[in-house]
Amino acid sequence: MAQGTSTDRRRFLTLGLGAITSAAIWRPAEARLIDRRRLSFENLHTGERLDTVYWVNGAYQPGALKAINVLLRDFRNGEVYPIDRKRLDLLVRLQARLHSTAPIQVISGYRSPETNAMLAAYSDGVAAGSLHMEGMAIDIRIPGRSLRQVHKVALAMDGGGVGYYPRSDFVHVDTGRVRRWG
Ligand SMILES: [Zn+2]
Repeated sequence: MAQGTSTDRRRFLTLGLGAITSAAIWRPAEARLIDRRRLSFENLHTGERLDTVYWVNGAYQPGALKAINVLLRDFRNGEVYPIDRKRLDLLVRLQARLHSTAPIQVISGYRSPETNAMLAAYSDGVAAGSLHMEGMAIDIRIPGRSLRQVHKVALAMDGGGVGYYPRSDFVHVDTGRVRRWG
């Protein structure tokens, strides 16, 4: 009888350890259920940097979106405008396809109508009705990836307009209708 009890007890202890091991294995799987969208930027005009998770489990994070809007503001007059969320989601996909986690370098994000009109007067490369004024466009380059690579992947995504500006070293991507130039 005494021996039987001892065996049962040993079996119980073994099962107990097994349960702990299972719990340890389950933990990483639970962590994977938390779905996040993260972006990091460097604004080349202001030198400001931002690394933020702006979407968690299906919900856009208001604080993070606000910080992104500030970083992508019209730096000439300080005007802040909400950046199209679809544009942000497309940047996440672009980064993923390029296997890059480097901060996206921003040449131009939001442009107020005044700034855009001023730039359009001096440059053929700036459209009078630019989607930068709608928060739908961004001019970028990505450290560690050639402009050709970024351009090629942006075109393959068919997410909207894609302009190639090799002389100024940036790619324009917007969430307007699918079109390409440059
Ligand atoms: Zn642009």
